[in-house]
Amino acid sequence: MALTRGDAMRLDNADPLADFRERFVIADEHRLYLDGNSLGRLPKATRDRLHRVIDQWGDELVSGWPEWIEAPTRTGDALAEVLGASPGEVLVADSTTVNLYKLVNALLDADPALRSISTDTDNFPTDRYVLEGIARARGLELTIFENADPLNGPQPADLPEGGLVVLSHVGYRSGALAELESFDGTVIWDLSHSAGAVPVDLNARGIRYAVGCTYKYLNAGPGAAGYLYVAQAEQDRLRTPIQGWFGQDDQFAMERPYAPADGITRFMAGTPPILVVAAVEEGVRVTAEAGIEALRAKSIAQSELLIGLHDEWLAPLGFTLGSPRDPSRRGSHVSLNHPDAWPICRALIECADVVPDFRGPDSVRLGIAPLYTRFVDVWDAIDRLRDLVERGVHREVDQTRSRVT
Ligand SMILES: *Cc1c(COP(=O)(O)O)cnc(C)c1O
Repeated sequence: MALTRGDAMRLDNADPLADFRERFVIADEHRLYLDGNSLGRLPKATRDRLHRVIDQWGDELVSGWPEWIEAPTRTGDALAEVLGASPGEVLVADSTTVNLYKLVNALLDADPALRSISTDTDNFPTDRYVLEGIARARGLELTIFENADPLNGPQPADLPEGGLVVLSHVGYRSGALAELESFDGTVIWDLSHSAGAVPVDLNARGIRYAVGCTYKYLNAGPGAAGYLYVAQAEQDRLRTPIQGWFGQDDQFAMERPYAPADGITRFMAGTPPILVVAAVEEGVRVTAEAGIEALRAKSIAQSELLIGLHDEWLAPLGFTLGSPRDPSRRGSHVSLNHPDAWPICRALIECADVVPDFRGPDSVRLGIAPLYTRFVDVWDAIDRLRDLVERGVHREVDQTRSRVT
């Protein structure tokens, strides 16, 4: 039997992370936001911090730089704690897309034995596009392989031998969680859909390379800087293909030929966006304070509630589970598949005040951001979804697709 709304409220009362919700701007209590895996909410501390950084810009002008210049590595060190990495291994700069471009090229340059690149069809589009471009430019073969079972995620046996591999830790559609430590060889992990919701334990699992974004579960805001991780022992042998002055050794000596800075700083390109790096610092701070293990425990409990309600209420209405059933094989979002997923998503937003994501061809994707999502939000969202489909409300919405889904 599915839990009642009273049960969901009792779970909220017993939730050790419940108070974190108050740290976020929640403009509309009726709107159920299950899209924190696309764009996280605004932490109140970030709003205050950004005002302070803007004032600092106004007051200090160029003399703010001695403090600002440390921001990408200082914020990277804070993020390293959330990712299970060490200080000096994470850099907050550029977008995920650009960081992936830098890292793939750096690895291919450093290791001529890497003669091919591969990824899976379930990887995020930007990763596939970046790899296609690099493969074309370098005349390398790119293999985009199909996972035998998308709900199982990528499996080591599917990978071609000996090449460079790029995979997502959590699949953006199904939420399938890849087993990081079971892959050998040169693998770059994209952590965009795991950082801040799922422990990654980069050092403990022997992961050497990763990239990711900060505006999903890390709540750093639209277009906030991404990050790049390179294990300490690998840093000195790699050089970024974008040789900018922020990655230069002794940057302000100027007028010298390019020589890469020591450590992770060598992956910097140009001037970092100080406002958004400050937003990353605040987002990471609140995540670290809650603790990744506690966030994971809450995320699992909430996605189990969601799936339980799906089985009881939604499966009879034609939904099927598009995510792994085993919580240890799943990230922090759940995809519910339905042939009418697109109009159902429209109707959820327009008529039920529930914000999901549509992911083609047939997924209603519901993200659980454990810092601010309540159990009762999950319960209400599935209740509203059931009600809407039972009444056929989705058959009456405008089905034209907009540019952003
Ligand atoms: C969201 C996401 C990105 C985003 O890349 P940007 O360069 O920040 O636009 C990249 N990879 C994955 C797997 C994602 O989920």
